Amino acid sequence: MGAGGKKMKPLLRQKNYRNICAYKIESNMDYQDIVNDIYREVQAYFGQGKVASYIPALARVRPDQLGISVETINGRSALAGQADTRFSIQSISKAFTLAMAFALEGDNLWRRVGVEPSGNPFNSLVQLEFESGKPRNPFINAGALVVTDVLCSRYADPKGEILRFIRQLSGTDTIDFDEEVAQSEKEHGFRNQALAWFLKSCNNIHSDVDTVLDVYFHQCSIAMNCREMSRAFLFLANHGVLPATGEQLLTHSQAKRLNAILLTCGFYDQAGEFAFRVGMPGKSGVGGGVAAIIPGELAVAVWSPEVNEQGNSVVGIQALEWFTTRSGRSIF
Ligand code: GLN
Repeated sequence: MGAGGKKMKPLLRQKNYRNICAYKIESNMDYQDIVNDIYREVQAYFGQGKVASYIPALARVRPDQLGISVETINGRSALAGQADTRFSIQSISKAFTLAMAFALEGDNLWRRVGVEPSGNPFNSLVQLEFESGKPRNPFINAGALVVTDVLCSRYADPKGEILRFIRQLSGTDTIDFDEEVAQSEKEHGFRNQALAWFLKSCNNIHSDVDTVLDVYFHQCSIAMNCREMSRAFLFLANHGVLPATGEQLLTHSQAKRLNAILLTCGFYDQAGEFAFRVGMPGKSGVGGGVAAIIPGELAVAVWSPEVNEQGNSVVGIQALEWFTTRSGRSIF
């Protein structure tokens, strides 16, 4: 009996049952046609954002570029546009350093950084003082600096370890820092310096502040392309296991938690809108990259350099919105 005492129709005769079946069958779907269409149509959104210029080395990137890469955990892929052009990953690096620090520290990490969305810009100072130096989450800059500090305490060569981890995830040995971008941010990263020194005053940075900033600026400067980025996010779609090698990098539970933080905090003060429009856990960077996953299925990376006020790629978010709409895929 259904609610209110009415007799329920058997499931097979319910109107939307066919849609449920279609959804299941299409889990083997070929994404290339969808990606081709999105690539063609989303270029209408060029010109709506601006290439980030507060890091001068980023301002030189040509704006009207677009790459898309989809990779499934069972090895299928779809590519479009400049999927092989490397870009500055910037804050997407925070997902990688968080995975490293979480694997090392386990839940002790949450004593030093929270898991609540901030609703504030990524480089905001006000909230940090208000909350006595415990950053709201690991994806705003203050939280990422604490995460990087963890890696500085744990490793003799934190920069080398970050690079090694990202190369392992993407299966590419040539991924590297862009020294010019790192230097440019070092010379202009006054807000990050302010955040780091404030964290130090609250005893939430344990290493030398300049060392932490140097590592942070370098992790942000790493250059990757969409193909490498989608591959690198696949372990988060695969419950912490790297599909290519079978290595368990995070526990099932840790991967679940990291994905939850990506969903609620990965796009700063646009995280709610991203969940609403796209419906995937993901991470953006001011270089115009966006990476997102569907657990148990796939990872997508989109790069287009023009960003909105929140520092998220305008074309990238639109492309992902169409990806989940047209494929019928999302976490919801
Ligand atoms: N390196 C940049 C910064 O710290 C990263 C910001 C971003 O990608 N949102 O300001």
